[in-house]
Amino acid sequence: PQRRQFSAGEYVEGILKGNVTILSQAVTLVESLRPEHQALAQEVIEKCLPYSGNSVRVGISGVPGAGKSTSIDVFGLHVLKKGGKLAVLAIDPSSERSKGSILGDKTRMEKLSVHPDAFIRPSPSAGSLGGVARKTRETIILCEAAGYDKIFVETVGVGQSETAVHSMVDFFLLIQLAGTGDELQGIKRGIMEMADGIVINKADGNNIEKAKLAAAHFRNALHLFPAPESGWTPQVMTYSGFYNIGVEEIWDMVYKYFDFVKANGYFEHRRNEQAKYWMYETINEHLRDSFYQNEKIAAMLAGQEQEVLNGRATSFAAAKRLLDTYFEEMK
Ligand code: GDP
Repeated sequence: PQRRQFSAGEYVEGILKGNVTILSQAVTLVESLRPEHQALAQEVIEKCLPYSGNSVRVGISGVPGAGKSTSIDVFGLHVLKKGGKLAVLAIDPSSERSKGSILGDKTRMEKLSVHPDAFIRPSPSAGSLGGVARKTRETIILCEAAGYDKIFVETVGVGQSETAVHSMVDFFLLIQLAGTGDELQGIKRGIMEMADGIVINKADGNNIEKAKLAAAHFRNALHLFPAPESGWTPQVMTYSGFYNIGVEEIWDMVYKYFDFVKANGYFEHRRNEQAKYWMYETINEHLRDSFYQNEKIAAMLAGQEQEVLNGRATSFAAAKRLLDTYFEEMK
């Protein structure tokens, strides 16, 4: 039997009551590509906006195998000890290709997935990274309106997705592993510069000394970067997610950061900058979609590309022809 579509007001009422089923359905609406769903989703988000914002948002990143799911499971249980509710969301830019995201998958977070105060939602899978990220950001708003006062956004440490996560969280935690002494080589400077904390996982058994050494390397490397705008000095720590060693220290550090940036005004400042960023991102995304979905443009595109490849037109001339056509269409 087909479920009757809720009205925006009914969604909002359910969300504000903390009804998880309705929250889930609203997130599905946010992720839907159907125009009528998108319109309804925007209405729900607008109505939830005044009830959002009252949370701490933490981005958690690391390469596959770094121990993100193991760590988020223990991190989640740790932060929930103080009460409140936790939402775990994810941004996985690869999920479109692989059909379905593993990030944020409930089965990867055994204890958290059965915790009554945790809401786990895998990455939205459709669309560009920008589109996926925007949906996650909108989902944050719904979760906050539903009373989730702690938000984790998980992402895989490959570059672009970090920038997207960084643009929606208050604290960016980077999970690293001790390697063979060259741990800094594989990690992009840009990602390190975004980190408010770097934590070296799997500091257990024979690996403890190596992890400490890696931490020293990271500390030295961080000294070479310009001081962050927050005024906060990024911390480097070692821990073991699996054996639950050092987890409390990490979260003491994260909460210290929040006290620090709330006191110096950076917390508000960063959120305002993010709001501005997302306004422009949304404009860019809609303009791009409108352009590429235009029938005339779609019909011309391959031909213009060939002209450029054959050397019969410059990139700029071809682009101008397409843009002129588009703006003529829009009149
Ligand atoms: P993800 O891909 O980043 O989510 O990583 P997982 O959480 O799935 O962990 C990858 C592997 O590392 C699994 O086999 C875990 O059991 C293992 N692992 C995770 N955390 C630790 C840790 O603290 N110590 C050790 N020794 N192994 C760990």
